[in-house]
Amino acid sequence: MLRIGCHLSSSKGFLAMGKEAVKIGANTFQFFTRNPRGGKAKELNPEDIAAYLEFAREHGIARILAHAPYTLNACAKDEGLRQFAYDTMCDDLRRLEYIPDAMYNFHPGSHVKQGAETGIAYISDMLDRINEKGYHATILLETMAGKGTEIGRSFEELRAVMDRVEDNSRLGVCMDTCHVFDGGYDITKNLEKVIEEFNSVIGLGRLKAMHLNDSMNLLGSHKDRHEKIGEGMIGAETFRAIVTHPKLKELPFFLETPNDLDGYQREIALLRQMAETKEEDGR
Ligand code: FE
Ligand code: FE
Ligand code: ZN
Repeated sequence: MLRIGCHLSSSKGFLAMGKEAVKIGANTFQFFTRNPRGGKAKELNPEDIAAYLEFAREHGIARILAHAPYTLNACAKDEGLRQFAYDTMCDDLRRLEYIPDAMYNFHPGSHVKQGAETGIAYISDMLDRINEKGYHATILLETMAGKGTEIGRSFEELRAVMDRVEDNSRLGVCMDTCHVFDGGYDITKNLEKVIEEFNSVIGLGRLKAMHLNDSMNLLGSHKDRHEKIGEGMIGAETFRAIVTHPKLKELPFFLETPNDLDGYQREIALLRQMAETKEEDGR
């Protein structure tokens, strides 16, 4: 069965997110670890976490994805900002120790004209320092659209970051369909080729999750504006191909489309239907 969910607000705690997920037909979900613009995280509530873990077990919720604030920049020019990214990620990962199956996704950062190579070096240095802490969550680098000076606009850049990390055994990648499309990877006409390229550059074993978003913009636009599934330049058929692809269909999928909960519920139902129709056709 498809493992699919959407981005949920974490303001009411974990149990509330779990219940919301079940209500809209999801069996996983993504959430911001704190205000997406940074700022202080709420204190952990052990009762909420215990109640959530039991609820998740009962309802088959698994492989949830924590998303770091997108304003963190591990390769900022200013040392204070880099330290802030490190401190925030450590604090997030410390909290995630209470949610055993959670993964942690972050935007690698923007090199702000220092050059990709310098940016890559800063990001991998930070990951080395995080490794020293011994946290357990799988850390995912997100594929980026290549807006401005974003690192992660190509599979090669993500590979370069991981290659420089001393122990990269707990690093993975979250592929965002809008971002790779905006980054110039044509998943609409050449999904197979893009998967092969990912495999040869990074290795499919590193692919741990996908963000399913349609795109408002054209292939290679480097814009990063998400659209509802089937209403953008990627189109519904590509999403059908993704959720039925033998090398992708077991991954956890997360919607980050511009929707309210009702909209997410419809998209989850649509993608589940796509996944099942193909299975029947195949027989
Ligand atoms: Fe993201
Ligand atoms: Fe994303
Ligand atoms: Zn995005």
